[in-house]
Amino acid sequence: MLNLAHTLEDVRESVRRVEANKLNGVDAEWLSPQEVKEVCPILNIGDDIRYPVMGATFQPRAGIAKHDHVAWALARRASELGVDLIQNCEVTGFLFEGDRVTGVETSRGRIHAGKVALAAAGHSSVVAGLAGLELPIQSHPLQALVSELFEPVHPTVVMSNHVHVYVSQAHKGELVMGAGIDQYVGYGQRGAFHGIEEQMAAAVELFPIFARAHVLRTWGGIVDTTLDASPIISKTPVDQLYVNCGWGTGGFKGTPASGYTFAHTIAHDEPHPLNAPFALDRFETGHLIDEHGAAAVAH
Ligand SMILES: Cc1cc2nc3c(=O)[nH]c(=O)nc-3n(C[C@H](O)[C@H](O)[C@H](O)COP(=O)(O)OP(=O)(O)OC[C@H]3O[C@@H](n4cnc5c(N)ncnc54)[C@H](O)[C@@H]3O)c2cc1C
Repeated sequence: MLNLAHTLEDVRESVRRVEANKLNGVDAEWLSPQEVKEVCPILNIGDDIRYPVMGATFQPRAGIAKHDHVAWALARRASELGVDLIQNCEVTGFLFEGDRVTGVETSRGRIHAGKVALAAAGHSSVVAGLAGLELPIQSHPLQALVSELFEPVHPTVVMSNHVHVYVSQAHKGELVMGAGIDQYVGYGQRGAFHGIEEQMAAAVELFPIFARAHVLRTWGGIVDTTLDASPIISKTPVDQLYVNCGWGTGGFKGTPASGYTFAHTIAHDEPHPLNAPFALDRFETGHLIDEHGAAAVAH
C-alpha cells in the first residue's frame, strides 16, 4: 500500500510514521516520487497538479482481505464451536434484575443470558440507549464506490489523505474507491453527492488514465466514531453488559485483536491488559489515547 505525501508537513509526518513502525517491528518504507512511479506507473507524479506527489510510505507486504469471506469463515468456525448465530433478529430492549442485565427482548422473542455483549457498530448508540446507556460516539455515513471492469493496470492500494481518496483494483477488474466519513451525523445508508464528486476529482488528478472510467455503484454504511479515533472495548456502568464499538472506518482489520480482547473482558469481567486503556471511563478521566496515526481507526 502506498500512502502519498503532498506537502512538507505530510512528508515529515509520514517519515516519522515509517520510523515509528520500524521501531515496533512493522515493516515500512519511505519512497521518493520516482520510486513511487516504479511501484505504480499510472500515477501522476508531475508538478502540474494541485498537490504534487513528494513521496509515499509503502508497505510491500500489505494485502487486501475479502470481508465477506472473512465474516463467513469466522461465522462457520464459531458455529462449529457451538455458538448459535441467529440472523434477522433485532434487539428491541434489555431485561434487568435490579441494576443487572439478564437478557434481551428481540423481534423473535426474549433471550435470557448471564452476560450481554453489544457490538452494533454504527448503531451502538441506538442499542445502548435501550439499556439507558449514553455512549461517547458519533455515527457518520462512510461511502465507497466501484467502477466498471478494466484490465489489470493498478498494482497496489494507493491512498492520499491530502487530496483524499484511496484507489485499488479488485481481482475482477473494477476500481474500488473511497475516502473519509461524510462530515454530518446520520443513519441514512447513502453518502452525500459532493463526497462522491470530491473523491472522483482527487482520483482523476492522481490517475489521469481513469478520467473516462464510469462509476457503477456507490454505497454507504454507518460508522461509529470516537473523539480520540480509538475503539471502546469495555465493561459498562450496567452490570454484566459489555460494549465493543467506536471502530469507525477501520474495524475490519482490527477484528482478531478486537474479538480476542472482548472475549477475555466478557469471560473475566475485567479487561485484558491489551484493551485496558480502551475502557469507556477514559472519556471521564481524560486519559484519551494519543495514537491517531497508528490506530486501526482512520476517521
Ligand atoms: C464503506 C465502508 C468501508 C469500510 N472500509 C474498511 C476498510 O477498508 N478496512 C477496515 O478495517 N474497516 C473498514 N470499514 C469499517 C468496518 O466495516 C467496521 O468497522 C466493522 O465492520 C465493524 O465491525 P462490527 O462487527 O463491530 O460491526 P458490524 O460488522 O457493522 O456488525 C454490527 C451488526 O449489528 C447489527 N445490529 C445493529 N442494530 C441491531 C439491533 N438492534 N439488533 C440486532 N442487531 C443489530 C447490524 O445489523 C450488524 O450486522 C468500512 C466501513 C464502511 C461503511
